[in-house]
Amino acid sequence: MSKVSKISTFEPADESYGLGAEFSGVHRRGELRGIIKINQNSCVGCDTCTSFCPTEAIGGTLGIAHRIDVNRCVNCGQCLVNCPFGAISQMSFADIVLEKLDDPKAFVVAHPSPSVRVSIAEEFGGKPGDLTINRLYNAFEKAGFHNYDVNFAADQTILEEGTEFIKKVKYWILGERGEDLEHIAHHPFPHFTSCCPAWVKNAETFHTNLLPHISGAKSPIQMGGALAKTWAAEFVWRVDPRDIFMVAVTPCTAKIFEASRPEFNSAYEYLLENRKIPNNTKSFQDIDAVLTARDAAEIFRRKGINPLLLSDERQSETMNVYTGAATIFGNSGGVMEAALRTAYFILSGQELSNPDIIVVRGHEKDIVEATIPIPLKDYGGKIIDVKIAVVNGASRNIKEIVKRLVNNENRYHFVEVMNCPGGCVNGGGQPVRTMGTSWLHPLLPLPLRA
Ligand code: SF4
Ligand code: SF4
Ligand code: SF4
Repeated sequence: MSKVSKISTFEPADESYGLGAEFSGVHRRGELRGIIKINQNSCVGCDTCTSFCPTEAIGGTLGIAHRIDVNRCVNCGQCLVNCPFGAISQMSFADIVLEKLDDPKAFVVAHPSPSVRVSIAEEFGGKPGDLTINRLYNAFEKAGFHNYDVNFAADQTILEEGTEFIKKVKYWILGERGEDLEHIAHHPFPHFTSCCPAWVKNAETFHTNLLPHISGAKSPIQMGGALAKTWAAEFVWRVDPRDIFMVAVTPCTAKIFEASRPEFNSAYEYLLENRKIPNNTKSFQDIDAVLTARDAAEIFRRKGINPLLLSDERQSETMNVYTGAATIFGNSGGVMEAALRTAYFILSGQELSNPDIIVVRGHEKDIVEATIPIPLKDYGGKIIDVKIAVVNGASRNIKEIVKRLVNNENRYHFVEVMNCPGGCVNGGGQPVRTMGTSWLHPLLPLPLRA
């Protein structure tokens, strides 16, 4: 059972900025730093965490307490879930969310990710998958939340990302030109996914040459935050968007950082521009708080709710409708498969039945490659071969991908990168197993990791 503490920014964000400075190290003003912290009194210096860190952010001598360099850390939490001594903590918003739930004016919305519904049962003595989605919705409702499933927003991300990919095919492969394709001239292949904030931060800090290749689509959570405070506020819930308190419930500690990024206040910008809120309204983020699966379980416990014991009955609701494409987001290869199926359908006019796409699922291999032939309906059935790669656990693999790209920049058209091994199902915000996720230890031979 995981314990959460009152929110603490560990590293007070503003103190380290010079007068008028907008940056401190790699962080912009407003961005949360020190989301993951090693407790100096509990760390025995065993060095286990260093082999799970994708960015060599952890330093220290064997036998002496280790430390995290906040400028190298991408907030993925893999060190936390794999520390055998429970010496690593995560910044938690549990107390703030509990306070909001007691505020009668606040319209508090739970925005749960697909991987959380699978894992949260473990916190209540169940097995992964024991908890049905209806029970989870009922648990959030009992705790005082309204529900808005991230899967609903993940479908929008797929449409954005799939459309972007199609534009790249048109511009770079088919040579089409036009006003709507002009910006694509600055975004060549390979197309990289953007929904993993640890990977995006990794690229921003260590692989800036890849930034023009990364999709401009927001992650499902950010897409959902903006939609909730604009469209849903006006047409579904009919509430003042300023009263909405959006709580992302995720398997991911890097989402805590993502939610604090200054550009993710697009609902505020839209509402202001369209005069739907007064001019003097103070800026607010699209997502107000992020709870990991551990934090959400703690909230249920403090409210005396065991989601496993609740009813499985529930009516279908507007905000909880989604496709299977959204559901597979949480697994490695899922984002790629969903976006590619969408692009395939639009370009060819047919559903993708080619079983080759299935090889990108799962986490048995560090890097999975495949070639998907797409017949183009508007080009007399001309076939283009789309070369794809899925990177599992960006730790060492992203360096390998970058090396391959330097040697042959035409090698891939589409690359999915998820920081955590196997994708978000093994995220740093998931319940901590007694032995961590060490069965996925990078130094173990592959058969033992599968
Ligand atoms: S794994 Fe835990 S105990 Fe070992 S060095 Fe890292 S933080 Fe310290
Ligand atoms: S949170 Fe991730 S990047 Fe940061 S120190 Fe831990 S393993 Fe490394
Ligand atoms: S793989 Fe998923 S859980 Fe892990 S850092 Fe990326 S988004 Fe978060």
